[in-house]
Amino acid sequence: MFTTVSRCCATLCLDGVTVVVLLRKEEIVRIVADLEVCQSFALCALTAPEVYSNDDDGYVIAPNGDVAPELEGPALEGARMCPVKALRVE
Ligand code: SF4
Repeated sequence: MFTTVSRCCATLCLDGVTVVVLLRKEEIVRIVADLEVCQSFALCALTAPEVYSNDDDGYVIAPNGDVAPELEGPALEGARMCPVKALRVE
């Protein structure tokens, strides 16, 4: 049984046979929202409601920190729709 370790590779010795296992690097998606730039158009949340929402004044509420890799597509699409480029996905 193998234990998954992100950002690493492992060398195992099984019955005298050396096996090199390359483990896929775990991708981390991070959203940076610039609230000084956000103009509360809400296009991000309309495009990707699973990632973005808006506060009562319409300003973006982005996930605080990292988001799941499977949300990278919606996160990028929502950021792309922002007319003032207030969102950056890293
Ligand atoms: S981040 Fe952009 S699209 Fe989202 S609410 Fe702010 S201005 Fe609108």
